[in-house]
Amino acid sequence: MTFKDFSFVPELLDGLDAMGFEKPTPIQEQAIPLILDNQDLIACAQTGTGKTAAFVLPILHKIFSSDKRHLNTLIIAPTRELALQIDQQVEGLSYFLGVSSIPVYGGGDGETFVQQKRALEQGAELVIATPGRLIALLNSGQIKFNDLQHLVLDEADRMLDMGFFNDILKIISYLPAKRQTILFSATMPPNIRKLASKILTDPKQVNIAISKPAEGINQQAYVVYENQKKNLLKNILSNPDFKSIIVFASTKENVKTLEKELVYQDFEVKGFHSDLDQSEREKIMIGFKSKKTRILIGTDILSRGIDVEGIDLVINYDTPSDPEDYIHRIGRTARAESQGTAITFINEKDQRKFFRIESLIGKDIPKLEIPESLGKGPEYDPSKNRGDVKKKVFNKQKKNFKKRRPAENKNTPS
Ligand code: AMP
Repeated sequence: MTFKDFSFVPELLDGLDAMGFEKPTPIQEQAIPLILDNQDLIACAQTGTGKTAAFVLPILHKIFSSDKRHLNTLIIAPTRELALQIDQQVEGLSYFLGVSSIPVYGGGDGETFVQQKRALEQGAELVIATPGRLIALLNSGQIKFNDLQHLVLDEADRMLDMGFFNDILKIISYLPAKRQTILFSATMPPNIRKLASKILTDPKQVNIAISKPAEGINQQAYVVYENQKKNLLKNILSNPDFKSIIVFASTKENVKTLEKELVYQDFEVKGFHSDLDQSEREKIMIGFKSKKTRILIGTDILSRGIDVEGIDLVINYDTPSDPEDYIHRIGRTARAESQGTAITFINEKDQRKFFRIESLIGKDIPKLEIPESLGKGPEYDPSKNRGDVKKKVFNKQKKNFKKRRPAENKNTPS
């Protein structure tokens, strides 16, 4: 499935392209058609699954496709950090649409409040708000949602944990009864069901069950430049404590090159890729299972299904693009409650991918120092990569300038 299958307007596809989103994640596949179809929706999905874009994309498409532009979407998030994060995604994805959004949150200084009020007066189609500040604005009559069409509650379980149940009901009392309501939550405890029954009409439900890496896996990572990876790999493979090892690379070309290099250095290694016929693959697997072959290098075709006991190290030579692939890859080690190590190499380009993996599994993976003999590696700063996305968006916008209508009225307070 691709994003084109949702029949999104071309300007939105351009935004997706510039953000580097190649294909929809499972939650996006399930939720987007329902939201486009104006259904109320309860979605059970956690951070890292692509949940934000799952509601932002169809809403942006609908706003852009309608000829009336007014404040029509309210997204409520539990914290200022999340509100800002959502706003950043809206900004990136809507870059070619000229749809404007405003984050509204408390906790800033008086100046921020003034900026938020000013931005609201100038108009926006989307408001992303934390409950407390939103109630203050509603009470003072500074924000009106008479024509609201979409209400999204993001991380609803966290909002209720933070004691916002009554605040949410209060906010909803200011909204038109006829609207589409979308509720996202990582968990579905009874108080969420109670809230849902009060505020949604005949909702559809989607669930994304995500797998978690086994407890026994010691996960580590190295932040490296691409040209440091080969030597780092050899360095790790030279450790005799690791007896049975799988190395994942992103393409079969990488598999073949690495196999050649390592054979040249006298490692017991075999490459496993789609150019081999079935009998060759079987022979390789037998050698690996019987521990005659110490190292197997392969693409993701190796990551699902093969069940070999006693693999003590998995190396992601290339960071997997899909967090679920990461979980499948590292799941090759520490099978059946045993212990194992999973090491991922992250080059500068892949830092955002790795950040997504960390958010899906809900923890920071320790970044180890690379051996001194290999020189210094880059800093781990996935937010820096946002700059690259912006640059890409900017260049693309320049290219499309004549074709597309320019972004208008973009008001986001700093
Ligand atoms: P979320 O689950 O909304 O917190 O998203 C986690 C991360 O996944 C964010 O950094 C998004 O930019 C990224 N993301 C969302 N959808 C996609 C996609 N279809 N392809 C690649 N990255 C995505």
